[in-house]
Amino acid sequence: MSGLAGLPSKRWSLRGSDEEGNEVWLIRSFGQKLYRCPGCHGDIPIGTEHTVVQYVLRLGGTEHHHWHRRCAEELLVPELRDVKRVPTSESSRSKLERRGRRPSGRRPR
Ligand SMILES: [Zn+2]
Repeated sequence: MSGLAGLPSKRWSLRGSDEEGNEVWLIRSFGQKLYRCPGCHGDIPIGTEHTVVQYVLRLGGTEHHHWHRRCAEELLVPELRDVKRVPTSESSRSKLERRGRRPSGRRPR
């Protein structure tokens, strides 16, 4: 995990995978709504920087959750495998949704 502190950022997102083989992308975001963090069940106030965790599922499809930065860093990232930083241009919503339309194994790497 060294070198990944402070990420995701404006330039870098993170990509890893969970134990079920789903891709897990962590993307810096600012909320336009009030969200509830699945890590601590606390509120994420409107307009504050936080982390969107987007899953690209192994069997196709996507889903996402909004996390406090620190909760994602402390609770979620340590559970992931092969966490790497990737340019934010790779983690746009439209690109991830396109990835989710193909079963894994046929995805471009
Ligand atoms: Zn939290």
